[in-house]
Amino acid sequence: MSLPLGHAALGLTAYDLTTNAGEVSVFRQWKVLAVVVILSNLPDIDILLGLLYSGNGVLFHRGPTHSLLFACFFGILYSICAREWKTLPPIGFSYSFLLIGTHLFADYVFTDAPISLYWPFELSMTTGFQGWEDVVHSIIFQTTNDITIIMLCATVVILKRIFRLDRIFCLRPVFVKKTNTKN
Ligand SMILES: [Zn+2]
Repeated sequence: MSLPLGHAALGLTAYDLTTNAGEVSVFRQWKVLAVVVILSNLPDIDILLGLLYSGNGVLFHRGPTHSLLFACFFGILYSICAREWKTLPPIGFSYSFLLIGTHLFADYVFTDAPISLYWPFELSMTTGFQGWEDVVHSIIFQTTNDITIIMLCATVVILKRIFRLDRIFCLRPVFVKKTNTKN
């Protein structure tokens, strides 16, 4: 899994699962939604840099931007920016780190090519050539590769909604009451 939609789905799911049930859903706040999608795709900025620098999207791919150090740095940077500029969604370091981390996790677990997780102590860049056309083509036509992960993410988010529903209909307090009665 290596495409923007798959990474966005994982980032949104991770954010949705880790925010409180009482908070407004990430899917109802467009600014938060945008930041979550951007941060969960941020490591692949190396593809854009490679294309702009030499016309080869994989020139720097899976290098320093796919490391824990990068996730830490941009996690800190975003949380500082969000504190300074109140128009940005107030997403702290741990969430920013988590979102970039979901990208590293997905690339590490779901793809065969290695990433530079512990850069600067290791460096595993992708070799080969991918021009603008190849990159755009793969984004548009290989999305089907990510369909499994997108469906799984959707299922998890829906299950969370159902779990909230049981709180709304007070099933949980009834269960707790019954348990207390037995004790
Ligand atoms: Zn990547």
